[in-house]
Amino acid sequence: MPSTPAPFPIGTPGVPWGDAERAQWRASVTKRRDVAADVTSVLPRLAVRFELITYGALQYGDFAAPLVLLKSRAWNDALPLAMVTGGVHGYETSGVAGALLFAERDAGGFEGRLNLLIAPCVSPWAYERVQRWNADAVDPNRSFKADGAAAEARHLMAFVAPYRGRFLAHLDLHETTDSDEAEFRPALAARDGKVFVPGVIPDGFYLVDDAANPQPGFQQAIIEAVAKVTHIAEPDAQGQLIGEPLKSRGVVHYDVKSVGLCAGLTHARFTTTTEVYPDSPRTTAAQCNEAQAAAVRAGLEFALRQT
Ligand SMILES: [Zn+2]
Repeated sequence: MPSTPAPFPIGTPGVPWGDAERAQWRASVTKRRDVAADVTSVLPRLAVRFELITYGALQYGDFAAPLVLLKSRAWNDALPLAMVTGGVHGYETSGVAGALLFAERDAGGFEGRLNLLIAPCVSPWAYERVQRWNADAVDPNRSFKADGAAAEARHLMAFVAPYRGRFLAHLDLHETTDSDEAEFRPALAARDGKVFVPGVIPDGFYLVDDAANPQPGFQQAIIEAVAKVTHIAEPDAQGQLIGEPLKSRGVVHYDVKSVGLCAGLTHARFTTTTEVYPDSPRTTAAQCNEAQAAAVRAGLEFALRQT
């Protein structure tokens, strides 16, 4: 008989959280790593190729951090524009490390071909705490919409607004992890006063395309490139990944903009959300970072071939 999951330790089952429960949750998640050491201190060495733009700042109690992105120094308004975002979910380490790896090692290959905006760590408070939500127990990757409640999303939307309509491509770098099922999905159910329904974490890399603007050629070009670095997730017995029907190898669809995903931020012609699986015994942290960088390179090369 399947065991019944223990009630989430915060709140009352069936009752959505109020301010007290959110504060209790916030106090329960502690700092485990340092965004200044891992990200902010790395950015100056990228300054040869990129201008460092501070597009906002976060302040949660004692926590304060600037929100910084990289903008191509060789900017040319005649060239297409592409965006890379990482760390929208702070715990998804390879999204942050992969964006930095691409910026430092690979971005030079696109100089003179593309203008780049790279926001490597959109949610630094959550990065430090290895968490999905921001300090208000809000998911930034459900907040990229007009009424979105996450400051992390609002700051980036405000910065990007003047560039909308000019983006060729946007890749938003994520992970799907065992902690999604063990911690973050149960927390979400508890926060919203709902019953936690267990799911299955796919073993391998996959992509989320935009149901309102599907770009199968773009997605497959990325899948083929990443398959050389790490394995692609196989569908479950129902032909699904994370409860969504498989559209093609390693690809599911979400209605990106109505859900408020970051991939809807730019309104680019080609968009995707990458989902690396770092907990597989078949991969390593370094391979996960390489998978993210490979996804960006392949996506941008494909997009450029369509111009
Ligand atoms: Zn994510």
